[in-house]
Amino acid sequence: MLKRLGLIKLATITTAFIASFWATSPHFIPEGLNPNLTGYTTFAKTLAESREEVETTRSYLLKPDRVFDGKTLHTNWQVLVQNDKIIAAGPQINQDQSQDAQPDSQTGNTTIIPLPGMTLMPGLIDAHSHVLLHPYDEVSWTDQVLKESTAERSIRAANHLKATLMSGFTTLRDLGSEGAGYADIGVRQTLEKGVIPGPRLLVAGPAIVATGSYGPKGFHEGVRVPLGANEADGHDNLISEVRRQIGGGVDWVKVYADYRWGPNGEAKPTFSVEELKLIVETARTSGRDVVAHASTDEAMRRAIEAGVKTIEHGDNGTLETYRLMAKNGVAICPTLGAVEAISSYRGWDGSEETVPARIIAKRQQMETIIKAKTNICNGSDVGVFDHGDNAWEIELLVEYGVSPLNALKAATSGNAKILRMEDTIGSIAQGLSADLIAVAGNPLTDITALRRVPFVMQAGHVIKKP
Ligand SMILES: [Zn+2]
Repeated sequence: MLKRLGLIKLATITTAFIASFWATSPHFIPEGLNPNLTGYTTFAKTLAESREEVETTRSYLLKPDRVFDGKTLHTNWQVLVQNDKIIAAGPQINQDQSQDAQPDSQTGNTTIIPLPGMTLMPGLIDAHSHVLLHPYDEVSWTDQVLKESTAERSIRAANHLKATLMSGFTTLRDLGSEGAGYADIGVRQTLEKGVIPGPRLLVAGPAIVATGSYGPKGFHEGVRVPLGANEADGHDNLISEVRRQIGGGVDWVKVYADYRWGPNGEAKPTFSVEELKLIVETARTSGRDVVAHASTDEAMRRAIEAGVKTIEHGDNGTLETYRLMAKNGVAICPTLGAVEAISSYRGWDGSEETVPARIIAKRQQMETIIKAKTNICNGSDVGVFDHGDNAWEIELLVEYGVSPLNALKAATSGNAKILRMEDTIGSIAQGLSADLIAVAGNPLTDITALRRVPFVMQAGHVIKKP
């Protein structure tokens, strides 16, 4: 069931985060940091020291009980990190670079970090997030879009990103600002400048919807309200909108191939296959992929034919459609977390006697996906539920029938491949970015180990350690 971070827990995380993160990250600037917060003095003191440290080599030898490298579990492995990269991983690490080191000290060339009882693994990847949204049981989606300023939403996003990184997620693909325009690009730039801590962020900007299909809805025709995405249709307008969003800085182009605009509020396709093809071709010219929201079988079919890279939700896809996805290399992000969260907001207590129809359909969908061998993307739709709770999706994948190994692969090397970033993230191998986490226990035998993350390293910086 839904496990929620309380406010107190979030405050604790934030304070602990500042203490540990800022003390170890020389490129983070303490502008506006409240001097009363724990960690400020430590940080101010270490900033000067850290500036010198930048000139020298940072080197860590990580010694966990097990290493999950993104594909396989190994015992007796160690991982050597230098600056921002993984230098070596295996049973026989060249000790030359670490022979002078004392455990947890920096007296030698290399700092040894023992991680007893833990499994070291690549930083987790969630390929469907909304950092500009917060749980709908706090404020409805409509009220967030209509009543919260872009400033409020961006500041909330900063808190969400901290919680996400501290929970072991080092990369997010954020799929739509939902009425906050290009704020996600601004948030990404703020992260890249080191002003706020958080995972690596790939963003989709405002996203594209067919005119009349998206919300918020239900207003007098004279009232103009901000929509949750940008409307565009037809040849010229669609080309312009895709190019505008690319120019605005999106990493992915997101399109809503269907939406709940049927006569009875049910999901129905929006764009024609020709329109979807145009979107994909225009995006591809710039080297970007397209992600499609689709829950009807027809919209999924059109999106596959158009050449999208991933389909989000996919609730009503048939076995034939999922087989077609497998054949064409289109991945599915089932977003189980969002469906479970919304069911609980509507009163479901998790009891098997009162399972909502939507959950029963989701279970059938996962059976179909597994049968069709469709590539599963780990994407939770977090924002509908608490940021920092992203591991819930991986737990649900297992609960819905995916093997723990395949669920872990999806959240690491699998997602990295879908994002075309397998040469940078998602595996523990020489030359990849040192985005690493350690979880207490063995996630292959107990997936809830992903909830216990005592160690987080981002680009070779220790963010959190036991
Ligand atoms: Zn979403």
